[in-house]
Amino acid sequence: MSEQPPSPSSPTDGTDADALGETYFETVEMTPEPSTDEPATDEASTDEPATDPASADEGLAEQPTFAGLGLNEDLVAVLDKLGYEEPTSIQQEAIPRLLEGTDLLGQAATGTGKTAAFALPMLQRLANRQGARTPMALVLTPTRELAMQVSQAIHTYGKSMGARVLPIYGGQPIVRQLKELQRGVDIVVATPGRALDHISRRSFDLELLEIVVLDEADEMLDMGFADDIEAILDGVPRDAQRMLFSATMPKRIAKLAGRHLHDPVRVTIEHDGPAGGEDPRIREVVYVVQKHHKPAALARVLDVEGPEATIVFCRTRNDVDELTETMNGRGYRAEALHGGMSQEQRDRVMSHVRGGTTELLIATDVAARGLDIDSLTHVVNHSVPSAPESYVHRIGRVGRAGREGVAISLVSPREHSALRSIERHTGRKMEIDTVPTVADLRAKRLGLIRAAMREAILGAELDTFRPVVESLSDEFDLVDVALAAIKLAHDESSSDGDERDVPQASLDHSQGKGGGKKKSRPEGGGPNAGKRLNSADAGRVWVNLGRDAGIRPKDLVGAIANETSLAGRDIGAIQISARFSLVEVPAGAVDEVIDSLSRTRIRGKSPKVRRDAAS
Ligand code: AMP
Repeated sequence: MSEQPPSPSSPTDGTDADALGETYFETVEMTPEPSTDEPATDEASTDEPATDPASADEGLAEQPTFAGLGLNEDLVAVLDKLGYEEPTSIQQEAIPRLLEGTDLLGQAATGTGKTAAFALPMLQRLANRQGARTPMALVLTPTRELAMQVSQAIHTYGKSMGARVLPIYGGQPIVRQLKELQRGVDIVVATPGRALDHISRRSFDLELLEIVVLDEADEMLDMGFADDIEAILDGVPRDAQRMLFSATMPKRIAKLAGRHLHDPVRVTIEHDGPAGGEDPRIREVVYVVQKHHKPAALARVLDVEGPEATIVFCRTRNDVDELTETMNGRGYRAEALHGGMSQEQRDRVMSHVRGGTTELLIATDVAARGLDIDSLTHVVNHSVPSAPESYVHRIGRVGRAGREGVAISLVSPREHSALRSIERHTGRKMEIDTVPTVADLRAKRLGLIRAAMREAILGAELDTFRPVVESLSDEFDLVDVALAAIKLAHDESSSDGDERDVPQASLDHSQGKGGGKKKSRPEGGGPNAGKRLNSADAGRVWVNLGRDAGIRPKDLVGAIANETSLAGRDIGAIQISARFSLVEVPAGAVDEVIDSLSRTRIRGKSPKVRRDAAS
């Protein structure tokens, strides 16, 4: 649970397909790892081959690369291993200037790749540094969740070079933080209040800082941290490099920047007003689901929409590989396309797509650039693209030459600010729809069977089957015979895969512009024991763990708040018996809670979870 302080012995095994979600803290000096566990290719993500299948079709402009921005080989290798194929816009603009030591004022929201934009130059400076005085960099973030997330990201980018990153935030025992600071930390990621606390205890010396970053500065000011930030910045050496990132640029941010940044380069990755390129023949649909429900949502949408051919966009090669495997496991004919594949492999994939043997092409933006596939009817954004322009490019893959197309975006609550940037860019409001339910799917399948039967009655030679019907008609009513035939056709046509409704999530605007989670989580034991949800809105979830398993209310609250879109305050009464527990949650969230808790561990045990019979 995120309440737990990160362990200094967190594994750093290098198998970081999605390393940003795993370990993020390491205070032990490490020896550099082997640069990659993937087979070496001559097509590093930073060096996309000119013979891309896309380029064969339309030709490619010269592509930006991480190496071209001035990053060193080690960092380029890390990014390659993470599957980043090319720098995002903010990375292209910010990294070269930051490497020169310039101050920066960046207007960019979460989802644009801004963390890597400031973290990579910071790590390069750390690598080039002779002195051992620490900490050399401080990143201030508005919430502890964001502090952990940013710390996790910097750790992932810097672990092969032995960078020591420490998140410090309120709510975690200060003694532990003091110990880690004493052992030596290169980069501190902190919430302003706790940072000041350490500064006043002299456990953290601002004088040594070479870089200071304000991340989501508008959020920090909104949360009342203005004085804390001023106090901290006043203590930072004059010649330290300063970076300020903010999703919005109100006057107070401009003033803050004016007071503390020296001759900053200004980078804006947000575009106001409508852009060209929109195509009314493209139906745009947004579904809001938690990240771990995206594959199930994708499967459901594909089943109901029945596309001819679909392209699904992911951010990284690793995401592409993972989703391809998942979708194949679910029975779809999916193939991956990304820059880590050889030209021969890519050509083969493209011929499968064009020949109709592959229905699902799962790709990175770079690999799919310029592709023109006639049969394509659907584009899916498995994650919201980092730049609004990419969205326009992605959806432009369908609706070509007057044909109709569908663009589907699977958006997690965290991605809401990126979605808003796209709306501002296209000048169109994106309608949020509900993921088709099992009932919708059934209705769709029955509709297809009806149409097929109609066709058979009208056209085909049915006499061969007449003896079967006639012999059964002696014994049964003809309608029952017809119903049985439909059932057989239905069972034949429907896969026995996942037939559960995909839990809906909502864009929680209280999460703030930066998208950092801000769930209120009750501290201490038994916070919800007496709380009641309005019974009309409440559902109850049964968990097979109780007092005998050492379960306390806060274990259940923590697990639910961590794993679902619910916050602690959304959870109602909790009843803990010796062998099981009952938790009251909003009725609409029961399925999501069951699904999420079933996959997690509570006090080290895998729980069995179901809807309580009485709810
Ligand atoms: P941020 O805007 O920093 O919150 O980053 C959003 C997400 O984009 C994170 O999951 C990063 O891992 C990912 N990301 C950052 N840069 C790139 C890139 N160049 N290519 C692909 N993914 C990236």
